[in-house]
Amino acid sequence: MISIAIDGPSGAGKSTLARRLAAHYGYLYVDTGAMYRAVGLYGLRQGTDLADGAAVAALLPGVQLRLGYRDGVQHIYLNGEDVSEAIRAEQVGMAASAVSAHPAVRAFLLDTQRALAKTNSVLMDGRDIGTVVLPDADVKIFLTAAPEVRARRRYDQLREKGLPADYETVLADVKQRDYNDTHRAAAPLCQAPDALLVDTSKLDFEQSFQVLCRIIDRHRKDREEER
Ligand code: C5P
Repeated sequence: MISIAIDGPSGAGKSTLARRLAAHYGYLYVDTGAMYRAVGLYGLRQGTDLADGAAVAALLPGVQLRLGYRDGVQHIYLNGEDVSEAIRAEQVGMAASAVSAHPAVRAFLLDTQRALAKTNSVLMDGRDIGTVVLPDADVKIFLTAAPEVRARRRYDQLREKGLPADYETVLADVKQRDYNDTHRAAAPLCQAPDALLVDTSKLDFEQSFQVLCRIIDRHRKDREEER
């Protein structure tokens, strides 16, 4: 069994790359951001003040999350409803960032994430996978890119989906989310000392994919030789 942790700020290309890598190697892809988004969506729907840790913690008994895989694609179910599309809205990303600052939310999701890695070879992406969730991951990658590049990619994605988007707003959201994720007390976004830094600012998808494949292949080869 093998575990690969990919962390980094929003918009660095983590989920697209992670999904493709998982399919390439036959590992289970676990998108932990989707779990935080589902909790954020629930909070938004309940009209909860998401900055209020006690109020958000009080919501958790009403949250039942299930991950399902259809054709290798992760679908997430919130109390039985497939919310895979709904959680992608910009507003839900901000809600996810707000709820993820509360230790009760992190503890709530941690067990599910670790359990998946115990029973499967996984490629898990998030903010704290290499530092907190899977500190003993076989391969740790910290994937990043300049905020302007990440905002541009996010903007293009939204436009492609026909969703309303304004570049300046997306850039402001990216920066706000970076700030929230790196400054929170509970499991802040940071590069694990043993993670490899990959900056995709000047790389397109295919080039980024090749860089990550080389890292993973090297690890697999080393492991083969150790045997
Ligand atoms: O990766 P994605 O943009 O879907 O994540 C949404 C939000 O969830 C992030 O801004 C971050 O605040 C939070 N998150 C987290 N820890 C993770 C994954 C996501 O705090 N492992």
